[in-house]
This record gives sequence, structure tokens and C-alpha cells, in this order.
Amino acid sequence: MSSVTPEAPQKTEETRSVIDMSKMSEGQRAALQVTEAARETVDDLSFVAHLFMGRWRPGKIAPLTDVDAEEKARADGFLADLATFLRAHVDPDAIDRSGEIPAAVLDGLAKLGAYGIKVPQKYGGLGFSQTTYGRVCQLIASHCTNTFAHLSIHQSVGVPQPLMLFGTEEQKRKFLPRVAAGEISAFALTEAGVGSDPARMQTTATPTEDGEAFLLNGEKLWCSNGTRAGLLIVAAQTPPKLVDGKPRTQITTFVVEANTPGVAVVHRSQFMGHRAIYNGVLRFTDVRVPRANIVGGEGRGLKVALTTLNAGRLSIPAASLGTAKRALQIAREWAGTRIQWGVPIGRHAAVAEKVRRIAAHAFALEAMLLTTSRIVDRDKKADIRLEAAMCKLWGTEKAWLCVDELMQVRGGRGYETVESLRARGENPYPVERMMRDARVTTIFEGSSEILRLFIMREALDPHLRIAGIALNTERPWGERLASAAKAAGFYAWWYPRQWLPIGGAAPAGMHPRLARHFRRVAGLSRRMARTLFHQMVKFGPQLEKRQVLLGRIADIGADLFALAATCVHAQKLLEDGEAEEKVLALVDDFQALATLRIRQNFAGIAHNADQHGYDLAQQVVAGEHTWVERGIL
Ligand SMILES: Cc1cc2nc3c(=O)[nH]c(=O)nc-3n(C[C@H](O)[C@H](O)[C@H](O)COP(=O)(O)OP(=O)(O)OC[C@H]3O[C@@H](n4cnc5c(N)ncnc54)[C@H](O)[C@@H]3O)c2cc1C
Repeated sequence: MSSVTPEAPQKTEETRSVIDMSKMSEGQRAALQVTEAARETVDDLSFVAHLFMGRWRPGKIAPLTDVDAEEKARADGFLADLATFLRAHVDPDAIDRSGEIPAAVLDGLAKLGAYGIKVPQKYGGLGFSQTTYGRVCQLIASHCTNTFAHLSIHQSVGVPQPLMLFGTEEQKRKFLPRVAAGEISAFALTEAGVGSDPARMQTTATPTEDGEAFLLNGEKLWCSNGTRAGLLIVAAQTPPKLVDGKPRTQITTFVVEANTPGVAVVHRSQFMGHRAIYNGVLRFTDVRVPRANIVGGEGRGLKVALTTLNAGRLSIPAASLGTAKRALQIAREWAGTRIQWGVPIGRHAAVAEKVRRIAAHAFALEAMLLTTSRIVDRDKKADIRLEAAMCKLWGTEKAWLCVDELMQVRGGRGYETVESLRARGENPYPVERMMRDARVTTIFEGSSEILRLFIMREALDPHLRIAGIALNTERPWGERLASAAKAAGFYAWWYPRQWLPIGGAAPAGMHPRLARHFRRVAGLSRRMARTLFHQMVKFGPQLEKRQVLLGRIADIGADLFALAATCVHAQKLLEDGEAEEKVLALVDDFQALATLRIRQNFAGIAHNADQHGYDLAQQVVAGEHTWVERGIL
């Protein structure tokens, strides 16, 4: 009998040692070693992680519960005050036009407590849950994405989040009351040479001779809030450590007071949208930072940064939800009132299809977010990396789809600026601004491409733990054979189960129509699990290079999560008294849309021209097809 139980693969080895890095360049190997060392590892897999293994754990997401009554009452009051403030004092078009958020707005937000929404009350914050924070992000972003970005960068990735996760009690007492009261903070990770691959950052932090401090030197690019921040979270390389006799890059994260001598804003960056994001290039020249300002320990900086991004990752999709709902509101009004060819345009099937897509995706995104937020609120230590990454990936891409569909529904008026519409006496729906602001969300805080890779890295982790050593040509033969024997035992049990229609029950009491949809997710997850396994067998260690193929599996996984979440969310809506047929109509429609997409993705895995496309792209990049570009300036 294998010592690896089929249920929960044991962490017998550090996961980083199961990946075969023998065929990688030095640069790739170094980046991967640092990134792998910074990975969070868990043994209690999440709902989605189980889905990728074809296992059904509905209890991890169902039932959807409410935040407790005391918080709900407080949150409702806060949201009502915030909505009043936004309507009265925050002009999103003026902010977009000027690129400035007026000081009075910042003061007003600080007075409301909006800079410390999740910061515990004992440190001066409002102490709200993730669910309430998501409602706040949604509300603000539905009105002004610049104001949302300002507050979210401050508390999702700026000083509060890493300190709440990794800070010492002393650091929390020193910094959290300041940031909760409105001192602006920012997160400085990106550099000109390192974007998606922060492991190779060049900014250094060198210990002073007395060991009491570090001297920070380097330049950080695109630091949002950076031109106005009082406190910064900065990641830098500290002296390397010897691991297995070789120097291993160390990254450390510091809280830096922005007024320390040597900190300079050398450029304010301007973008297509998010024009008041106060984003800049920050230069650090011999900036003295006390050792006491290290967050999470020396050499653990990438882990701090990546975990912060994981935890903070739910705020952007919450904003995407605000955008998607606003798109729905505008599309509904316009599709019902704009008459062309004798009827409202919403009666033309081509336009109706767009309205339907916006509605279905907004509904599903809310379901995914609520489901994930409730897991966080139940257990701060629960592993939600896959769920959060899917909310960000799926939510930002679907919000972009919603805005794009809305642009088409609005026709020429969608493309016209608010000022121009207003000057002509028309309703100034801000579709043009919404589109400019939405575009970047699939790029920052984890681009869609990197999130798909991240999702698949985590999806493959149980397999790597079971079979990785056997496939790793860097490991001794004896170890590989022993590992192969264990893996054979596991797969002899696991693989046949992926063909059997067992273990796909819906929670007791779920509405029969929802339960039917819910059970189908279990069946599709087994198909996904065996498809992933087939690709592992087919491509072996080369699978990681098949990014397009892996991307299809990641997308199937995200749609399955969305399908399951809509059932759980809908069940809660029914229990809360929402009209049954209306809720079920949306669930049915989203299920139809997502199932179609899942089928297309499965078909794309079976038959595709990925390799041909990849080869052609290499020729294009090498300049072999510049003839296609003839005729342009
Ligand atoms: C408005 C704005 C605000 C920002 N705010 C901050 C901030 O506050 N703090 C901060 O530290 N950073 C910030 N950033 C940086 C942002 O997080 C980066 O833009 C992002 O990490 C991507 O890096 P990059 O732009 O250098 O793209 P690159 O890493 O150069 O990537 C270019 C393209 O290649 C893809 N790609 C890269 N590597 C791979 C791979 N291995 N496989 C497949 N595809 C790949 C990417 O997905 C992308 O499509 C901000 C950026 C913007 C535009």
C-alpha cells in the first residue's frame, strides 16, 4: 500500500525540488527557484484545488452565510454614508479630466474611516470583514474608479495588508493607526526590468556596518499612490544566502517613510485611464531604513509581496463588479429607450444578446466574489489562492467584456466623451471613461497571462508532489524509482475514479433546479481532471511550455468555479426571499453561456493549431514576415 493517501498528497519534499530545472537557462532557473521558494504551500486544498483533482468538496463553499448582524448594521450605515459622500463630493469626470483627487475628497474619505476598512478597530480602523470591504470597493468603483484605485492600493497592497498579515505587534501599533487615519501608502515592487518576474529585481538593501539598518538603492517603476504617499512598502534584494553551496537571491520587504532623505519622485506617469492614480517612478539613493522596518523577516520579501497580492487580489474584481453592474444599468436604460427601426434596440436580437451577456456575467461575478469572501471571513488562514486568482482573472476579463458590449449597445454615443455628450444636452453616460479605466485591470496586480500560469501551477501541485520526483532528471535514480512506485499506486486508484459518476452530491435543501446545475459541475470537474492528466502524460515536463493549452484548462476551471458559485449564491438569494423565477432565470442563462464556453475549451484542447501558431509567432518576432507590414508609415 502506498504511503501517499489518494485523498491528500503529503508534503514529503519541498515542492521546489520536484520541478525539473535541468533544461532551464541560468536566468530561468534562478527566477524559478526564488519564486518557488516564495510559494505558499498548504495541505488543506481549497474547493477549486479539489476540482482540478476531480474531487468534490461542496462544503468548502456552501452554504453561503451572512456577515454577522452587528457588522451588517454597521456596514449598511457606513455604505449609506459613503454613498451620500460620493454623490455630493466626488465628481468622477472632473477627477478624470484634471488627474487630481481634490484634497477635500481625501479629507472626507479619511473622516469616514475609508482608509482603514479592514484594519482592526484596536488599531484605529473600522475592522470590517472581506465581504464588507468588497461591497465598499464595488460601490466606489461603480462611481469613480480613480477614487477606488486610490483607496484600494492603499489598503489592499499598501502598508495595511502586509502589516496585518506579517507585521510584528510593534509595527502594527506604530503604523496601522497612521494609515487607518488617512496617511496614504503605496506598494513598490515593479522595476523597469522586472514586471511579471519580480524575483530578479535590482533594487538593493545593504546592511549598515552596525547592522541596525539597511541602505536602500534603486528605482521603482509605476508605484501607484507613490507621488503622494507618506509610507511605502518597498521590496529589495538583500545579500544572497548560500543554499546547497550556491548563492540564492534574497528579497526583503521594508516599510519606508517617504520623507526619509534619499527618496525622490523622479517622474509622474500618465496613463490611458486611471488618470488620478498618482503613479510615479521612485528613486532611492542611500535611503536608511531601520532593521525594525523589515516586514515578515529578512529574505521573505517575495513571499510577503506575493501573499499580499493574493490576499489583496479580491479588491480589483470587486471593482470590476461595480463596473459590470454600472454597465448593466446603462445598457438596460439605453436598450429600452433608444428606438431604431421602429422598436427599442433591446428588441433586436443582436443587441439583446449583449444585454444578456452583461447581466449574466455581472451576476456570476458577484457569486464568485461573495463565495470567496465568505471563505476568507470564516477562516483567515483558509487557502483561497486559486479562488482569488480566478476572481481577478475571470472578473477583470468579464468586466472588460461587459464594457465592450456596452460600448456597442451605446453605438456612437459610447465612444463620445461625457463633456461632449453633456454639451449636446444628452445623458452623459461615461462609457468612454469606463472603457479607458477598465482596460488596465487585466494587466496590473497579476496579468491574465501570469494568473493563468499561477492557477495551473497550483492545479498541478498535487500531481507534482506525487509524480514530480519521478520525472525530475536532476534527482538520483533510486529516489526517482521509489517515487515512481508510489505514484503508480496513487494513479491506479485515482485515474479510474475520474471516469465514474460518483461523489457529486448537492448540499441538502438546495433547490432542485440549482442542484441539477451544481451536480453537473462535479461531472465536468472529473472530465477536467482527467484531461489535465492526459496532457501531463502526453507532454511530460514540456507541459509548462504549452501555455495556450494550459490557459484553456485554467479557463475551464474558472468557469466551473463560477457555475458552482452561482448555484450557492442563488440558493442564498432564494432563502432571503428573492423572486424564485427571476433568480433561476439568471442562473439558467449563465449556466448555458458558461457551458458553451467550457465545451469550446475542451474542443480546443483536443484539436488546435497552437504549435503552428507558436512557430509562426517566432518567425514574426524574428522579422521573417515584415512583408505583411508593407504599405504603412
Ligand atoms: C496603472 C498601473 C499601475 C500600477 N501600479 C503598480 C504599483 O502600485 N506597484 C507596483 O509594484 N507595480 C505597479 N504596476 C505594475 C504592474 O503590476 C505591471 O505592469 C505588471 O506586473 C506587468 O509587468 P510589465 O508591465 O512589466 O509587463 P511584462 O512583465 O513585461 O509583460 C508583458 C506581457 O508579457 C506577458 N508575460 C510576461 N511574462 C510572461 C510569461 N512568463 N508567460 C506568459 N506571458 C508573460 C505579460 O502578461 C504581459 O502581457 C502598475 C502598472 C500600471 C500600468
